Amino acid sequence: METAIWEAIGTLDAWSHRISPDLLAALPRRVAEWTCGPLLDKGGRFPWWGLASGLILAAIVWWFDRRRREGFFRFCFPSEIYRNPSTWVDLKLSFFNYLLFGGGALNLTWRINAALLASWITAALAAGFGPNEAPAAWTPIAIALFMLAASLASDLGYFLFHWASHMFPPLWAIHKLHHSAECMTPLTAARVHPLERPILGPFRAVTMGVLMGPAFYLYGGETAFPTILGIDLMAAFTFATGHLLQHSHVWLYFGPVLGRIVVSPAQHQIHHSSLPRHLDKNFAELWAVWDWLFGTLYLPKGRETLKLGLAGYTRQPHDGVLKSWFAPVADAAMAMVRLGRSKPRIENRGRPNTGA
Ligand SMILES: [Zn+2]
Ligand SMILES: [Zn+2]
Repeated sequence: METAIWEAIGTLDAWSHRISPDLLAALPRRVAEWTCGPLLDKGGRFPWWGLASGLILAAIVWWFDRRRREGFFRFCFPSEIYRNPSTWVDLKLSFFNYLLFGGGALNLTWRINAALLASWITAALAAGFGPNEAPAAWTPIAIALFMLAASLASDLGYFLFHWASHMFPPLWAIHKLHHSAECMTPLTAARVHPLERPILGPFRAVTMGVLMGPAFYLYGGETAFPTILGIDLMAAFTFATGHLLQHSHVWLYFGPVLGRIVVSPAQHQIHHSSLPRHLDKNFAELWAVWDWLFGTLYLPKGRETLKLGLAGYTRQPHDGVLKSWFAPVADAAMAMVRLGRSKPRIENRGRPNTGA
């Protein structure tokens, strides 16, 4: 018996010697990768250069604010926002969403992507017109136009997803978690239900696939996305337009001309307001032209008073991580049942007890 125990201990010891040096050596790198991941993720919500551009734009707004009485730090980080329970829900939810779903664990529709649809369209074009024996070459003008078109197509996919999320009760049940924030910080951008990503995927796949398919055919299977200092040019443009400040208290509006083209931070802040005149407006993420074209654009006349959060609640419904994950799914299931019974209760953010 004693021999067996010593043998077992010896085996364990050998295992631990074999495993631990690698584990210990890899651990700091893994931890650093995980914690810095969002800052280094070029396609993510919080790349370091996006945070920097947000701070620079906030500094410009602070500098030109004639009523400015506080220092820059207090302007950027007012205690009334960071003491608000809604901000803590944002923080906890973004942390646990990243912990559990950061690697796309819940991206159920990842197979339906733009490349798949584009390849089908390319194959259909090749079948209809024959294989493209002399593919065109990408010129600087063609690259610039394709980049612009791709950005518009991607945002159209987002616009359609976002519009549908406000119009159809089961989708609204999922999306309203994002709207139950009572005050906004950049972390509110991550206050989204894990199911939003797989719902958005097919919308973007269609709008991007329809553009990329013919491009693949014309250019022999190659597309071009220019970068600047290793950063996707359109992503850099997105953050330069104040994308980070869209979820913040910093009011930055580009005016009625530019506001019809690009979504300024103030326009998305209006999207979050539950006042009747602000409901279901400004769905686009980057290109306000989509709201302009589809009649959902709302441009402010001046600095507007907003009422953030869902209308009709004395207390916002998502006050913890578990409620934020499970309540929307339960609400969506109930909304589907009501649709199945052909008695849809039309839900709107302006109506009392929305989705309760
Ligand atoms: Zn919305
Ligand atoms: Zn938002």
